[in-house]
Amino acid sequence: MADLTVLIRQALSEVAACGDLAALEEARVRWLGKKGTLTEELKALGSLTAAARPAAGARINAAKSEVQGAIEARRDALARAAIEGQLAAGRIDVTLPGRGEEPGGLHPVTQARLRIETLFRRAGFDVASGPEIEDDFHNFGALNIPPNHPARAMHDTFYFADGRLLRTHTSPVQIRALQEHGAPLAVIAPGRVYRCDSDMTHSPMFHQLEGVVVGEHISFANMKAALHGFLQAYFERDVAIRLRPSYFPFTEPSAEVDMSCVFCEGRGCRTCKHSGWLEVSGCGMMHPNVLKASGVDPERFTGYAFGAGIDRLAMLRYGVNDLRLFFENDLRFLRQFRRFSA
Ligand SMILES: [Zn+2]
Repeated sequence: MADLTVLIRQALSEVAACGDLAALEEARVRWLGKKGTLTEELKALGSLTAAARPAAGARINAAKSEVQGAIEARRDALARAAIEGQLAAGRIDVTLPGRGEEPGGLHPVTQARLRIETLFRRAGFDVASGPEIEDDFHNFGALNIPPNHPARAMHDTFYFADGRLLRTHTSPVQIRALQEHGAPLAVIAPGRVYRCDSDMTHSPMFHQLEGVVVGEHISFANMKAALHGFLQAYFERDVAIRLRPSYFPFTEPSAEVDMSCVFCEGRGCRTCKHSGWLEVSGCGMMHPNVLKASGVDPERFTGYAFGAGIDRLAMLRYGVNDLRLFFENDLRFLRQFRRFSA
């Protein structure tokens, strides 16, 4: 008989070296299988004397169960390691910093709008809003733009099949605010407006600011002071303004507001087309027909209204030369505005 102690040591070291369950099964067959080394030892008992047989058999059985125990322990260890490997591979460390955790920023047009709202609130205005899907009455009729009025052709309106439309300006909010609150009243209404128009300086959707003040002694001079004050506060510098006679169906008299160029201080540059002036707003005294349509007595109350492009005000404040940059959502462009605050 072979030296059992040597055999056991060899078997145990082979079992311990098994790196996976397949290798472990091979080792089991090699040592404990039908033709395994220890099984062969048992078969060899027949060659011993009857007196030596029981003690030798007991030692071989003890060796078999020791190797069997080592195999089972190794099998458990390998199974546990496999599960732990799977768990480790799928582990999420929630304490690691996240990816893409950069703080966002407000869109420059939103920053401009919030800044405008803050400045007008400070001057005593409320901020109103209205629906972007409007009816003909609020967008045109009540604003003294009857059917077949040439001003309708200038608006390139998006119509729905039922006759409603995407508002072409924020002026309908004048009507809605007056219908709801009556006079006296001072509100601004910033919001999205839509026209079927698209090029370097026009977008089919853009942002407009409407302002309206109605009261018993509201004058053209009040309007001029309010607009001048707003532009100085918005651009944080002294600016000159000038009013040019103009025409809008909903105001009378009407004017275009020009502001001294914020880029060249009036000396002339590309932005102001070398005129020294930038066109920033249209305005005027509210037409009596508009007051009447809003349920306000034009014999008792007067009012002024103005409109301005928020996108344009943002372009002028931040030095952006192409309106389309605001709507393309290129992050390289938008990231530059994170440092600004409203
Ligand atoms: Zn200029």
